[in-house]
Amino acid sequence: MNHERVYNFSAGPSVLPEDVLLKASKEMLNYSASGMSVMEMSHRSKDFLDIIEGTEKLMRSLMKIPDNYKVLFLQGGASMQFAMIPLNLFTKNKKADYIDTGAWASKAIKEAKKYGEVVVLGSSKDKTYSYIPKIDSSTFSKDADYFHITVNNTIYGTRFTPENIPNTGSVPLVGDISSNILSEEYDISKFSLLYAGAQKNIGPAGLTVVIIKDDLLGNAMSCTPSMLDYKIHADNDSMYNTPPCYSIYICKLILEWISARGGVKEIEKMNKHKANILYSYLDESKLFKGTVVPEDRSLMNIPFITGSEDVDAVFIKEAIAKSFVNLKGHRSVGGMRASIYNAMPVEGVEKLVDFMKEFEVKHK
Ligand code: PMP
Repeated sequence: MNHERVYNFSAGPSVLPEDVLLKASKEMLNYSASGMSVMEMSHRSKDFLDIIEGTEKLMRSLMKIPDNYKVLFLQGGASMQFAMIPLNLFTKNKKADYIDTGAWASKAIKEAKKYGEVVVLGSSKDKTYSYIPKIDSSTFSKDADYFHITVNNTIYGTRFTPENIPNTGSVPLVGDISSNILSEEYDISKFSLLYAGAQKNIGPAGLTVVIIKDDLLGNAMSCTPSMLDYKIHADNDSMYNTPPCYSIYICKLILEWISARGGVKEIEKMNKHKANILYSYLDESKLFKGTVVPEDRSLMNIPFITGSEDVDAVFIKEAIAKSFVNLKGHRSVGGMRASIYNAMPVEGVEKLVDFMKEFEVKHK
């Protein structure tokens, strides 16, 4: 690692691969002999069309996205999807099932309620969202237009594992994968719609990726603004208006970086290895402890506490002095959280754990 850089455990926007940043900096003034930066070129130029088409192609192959799904490059963040989903998917009964696994799920629920009926099938709020609620499939609404889950819960550090995705039968399953896209293999065909803000695993803020099954297009409520209609974006190859060109370009470089590492399977191995280094230590430490039940632990966001707010504060301060930054937990929960996205090197997690061990000895 370049020694001027810190180990950045931010939950998002977050660390990006150093190789990607270096490549982007080399291409900053003159992209592919165009004589200009990607930031300066028309979104209709041949150079940019090659970038957006290449990004989609790579995403399709890395995530094994079936042909009957569209990949859309939108804006507005994952938060915009909280409204776009009901506006486009409340087609029959204006009713949807949601599972409340934390702050982002709650925001999605609140937004959907503006457009129809929301059934909250389960919530882990009773234990500060430290687990994924087990839901009996007999309670799923048969007449729901869709079923929504937040696949990885960035703030609380829980996730629906690939084996634990609810089987919703003919009801379309929608998943928020903002904080775990491309971190491990998920079977896309279990979902009808997946969405992610880019600023954790796939690039800078400004880009939102939506993967949507063809049969969900074309039934938006009549009041839906054009910019919020998936079909309009799909019919225009994400060029209904100017897309977030530079963010898409960086996303392409990140996808190339993932491919060069052997694809999602290899990235998943690396992520499991990294997460295991930290969780194993948290399980044995007498000072630090993880806050999530083992079976629902996220590979990307790992919250932990000492049990004393004062000790937490000292830890965070001393960590910053050693270049381990952004370890403070989300303002709604406190404690610490290490976000270890794809771009966090193994060495970053190993060094963090070494530092935690030293801290533990000093604060016995
Ligand atoms: N969903 C999840 C799981 C998130 O982590 C976030 C952002 N941290 C959001 C939604 C909101 O994303 P955005 O800021 O892109 O609207």
